[in-house]
Amino acid sequence: MSSTPRVIVVGGGLAGLVATRHLAVGGVDATLLERRDTVGGRVRTEERDGYRFDRGFQVLFTAYPAVRRELDLESLELRRFAPGAVVAREGRRSVLADPRRNPRALPATLSSPDVSIGDAVRLGRRWLALRRTDPETLFSGPDESIERFLLDRGFSETFVETVVAPFYGGITLDRSLSTSKRIFEYTFRTLAAGETAVPAAGMGAIPAHLETRAREAGGTIETGVDVTAVSSDGPVVTADDEAIEADAVVVATDPPAARELTAVESIPTDGRACVTQYYELPARASLGTGRRLLLNAVDDAGPNHVVPHSAVAPEYAPDGTTLLSATYLGDLDASDAELAARTRRSLESWYPERRFDALEAVHTDRIPFAQFDQPPGIHERLPDTREPSGAVYLAGDYTRWSSIQGAMASGRDAAKAVLEDLSG
Ligand SMILES: Cc1cc2nc3c(=O)[nH]c(=O)nc-3n(C[C@H](O)[C@H](O)[C@H](O)COP(=O)(O)OP(=O)(O)OC[C@H]3O[C@@H](n4cnc5c(N)ncnc54)[C@H](O)[C@@H]3O)c2cc1C
Repeated sequence: MSSTPRVIVVGGGLAGLVATRHLAVGGVDATLLERRDTVGGRVRTEERDGYRFDRGFQVLFTAYPAVRRELDLESLELRRFAPGAVVAREGRRSVLADPRRNPRALPATLSSPDVSIGDAVRLGRRWLALRRTDPETLFSGPDESIERFLLDRGFSETFVETVVAPFYGGITLDRSLSTSKRIFEYTFRTLAAGETAVPAAGMGAIPAHLETRAREAGGTIETGVDVTAVSSDGPVVTADDEAIEADAVVVATDPPAARELTAVESIPTDGRACVTQYYELPARASLGTGRRLLLNAVDDAGPNHVVPHSAVAPEYAPDGTTLLSATYLGDLDASDAELAARTRRSLESWYPERRFDALEAVHTDRIPFAQFDQPPGIHERLPDTREPSGAVYLAGDYTRWSSIQGAMASGRDAAKAVLEDLSG
């Protein structure tokens, strides 16, 4: 390279932030343009009145390879969930724990009506089969829905409907389990190999950390800049009515915006939606599940899952209060008050000995496009980072799979491709 090449990265989610850092480390003049006032994209945290509200319930799986590579986990002061979950239904709650990590919970797990001994053995076998697998190979080969995959391997319908559906409904935002089984295999392997956690300062600490690393590497981050066009000629980026010439452009926006900016038709635009509502309770009124989340065993009008945030991370709530959230899957038009009433009804049916009159909604996030839809076979059809013409590249979860891992890995891939082509 003669003079320092200039690379523009459009979009400051995890993919764009990782791309910017790797580009800057690679010696180019890398500038990220983000239209919002803060970076993070789909991973953000709002702080208000001493509470930390992540934008929708999300967690960090510490065994994601890209998480290990891109983040200094120590500096994020992680607060960990207890492995397993509490499965709730009318009049009853049962604990499911991972006996490998918590042998004392084995009797409770085995006496749970939701998991037969056969299901527990089959889960153990899947873990043994997956743990030696290179996770990247899980995205090739035949594909089918999570439901078909599990039923064909002998898992009981009760286990699939009452445990897997709400658990993976929480991960894929698709309780029908019609999502690609690759997501099940990748995340099951990741969950079993590592921990599930949130930073003490909220999930927004992850992009803040990546932003610091990108700046330290020499990258420039500009927020409040809306990119309205990207032309492969040059290429040129139009931002706030100004044309900016560059040697390469990385489009790292959310999938619908990337499709609009590049016209690449293989970018998926069908999204999965959810609504997460946060509630305050007096501290003494905790749910008593410890650091485990609650899964709704029944596909009814109640939430898919309820999370005891302040039990996991006391920093999420002011002293003397408890912060919970309930996540509903899909695009609901129910009002905030109606959702709070539904959550109260569900909790009172799961805890018949208790009243939840004191449950007060303090924040609601309605997220129309949380993840792109991932039916079986979609991953082969996703675009490559070099798909657009000219020196325009793609980064973002939509080039891999919808996750923190997919987004971060895509940012590194795009930076690598740009650096290779610029020096070639
Ligand atoms: C509620 C919810 C729960 C989730 N749960 C998990 C989980 O538990 N684990 C997990 O691994 N993943 C989870 N995910 C998925 C994960 O968060 C995403 O896959 C990932 O953050 C996507 O990152 P990205 O950088 O590809 O895109 P985005 O985060 O969408 O970032 C794109 C950025 O581009 C910006 N932008 C768009 N258009 C323009 C423009 N024209 N000009 C300038 N900037 C623009 C946007 O403002 C945004 O900041 C969840 C997502 C949500 C929303």
